[in-house]
Amino acid sequence: MTKPKSKNSSSLENQLSPGQRDGSNAKPRLRPVRSHSLYSPAEVHEIFRRFSVQRPEPKGELEHVNPFTLLVAVVLSAQATDAGVNKATRALFKVADTPQKMLALGEAKVGDYIRTIGLWRNKAKNVIALSEALIRDHDGEVPDDRDQLVKLPGVGRKTANVVLNMAFGQHTMAVDTHILRIGNRLGLAPGKMPEQVEQGLLRIIPDEYMRHAHHWLILHGRYVCKARKPDCPACVIADICKADEKTTDVPAPLVEIAPLGPVDEIQ
Ligand code: SF4
Repeated sequence: MTKPKSKNSSSLENQLSPGQRDGSNAKPRLRPVRSHSLYSPAEVHEIFRRFSVQRPEPKGELEHVNPFTLLVAVVLSAQATDAGVNKATRALFKVADTPQKMLALGEAKVGDYIRTIGLWRNKAKNVIALSEALIRDHDGEVPDDRDQLVKLPGVGRKTANVVLNMAFGQHTMAVDTHILRIGNRLGLAPGKMPEQVEQGLLRIIPDEYMRHAHHWLILHGRYVCKARKPDCPACVIADICKADEKTTDVPAPLVEIAPLGPVDEIQ
């Protein structure tokens, strides 16, 4: 399918200001530096409405049984696939699903469980250190506060945002590689740094969609708007999308997608 010439074929109102894209001074093949979303509030609302029809109850793909195991799984997932983490943590969480049990297991044995995951030595160290810190500073509970979470060993802003969203239902936006790409490729929330994209998305996504927005964007990036070659014919927002790379203006049929099976069967 050939790329459409016009980006403005959406039936929704396009509130793009003149010169915001493709200005006469722009050098060929260089993307303009943008700081604001290219989408009107009506367009953003429609994008997330469609995602909500596709996946009414999106789930994260990291297996866990409580906030502590979620926190550990997210720490282990840095530079690793969810499938790889799940394979290791299924056995680990059977014997250690609390900070106390993790500490009792000890760094060497934690390492034995997770040695199929990249950077496992350092991660085993962090899992023990964060278990100690949770027992010492938080009575063994995972705090529902970002400032406290990022003080834990191995926990950065993205990890904290995932835990706050998934374990505590807070309206956070954890920007991973998929969301960073989508924010910029579509011009939805442009920014070089993850925190810029995070703030941009928090500004534009309607409250009613914030609970699941993080998962919708990750799943959209993982399975449709993929890094190397976006699968635009399978995309339900193709008529709204303003990405330079898009190959069609015709959106895919808007139907609910069956929940994913075990993640290690599909990756
Ligand atoms: S139309 Fe293509 S580029 Fe745009 S969001 Fe969909 S998959 Fe991504």
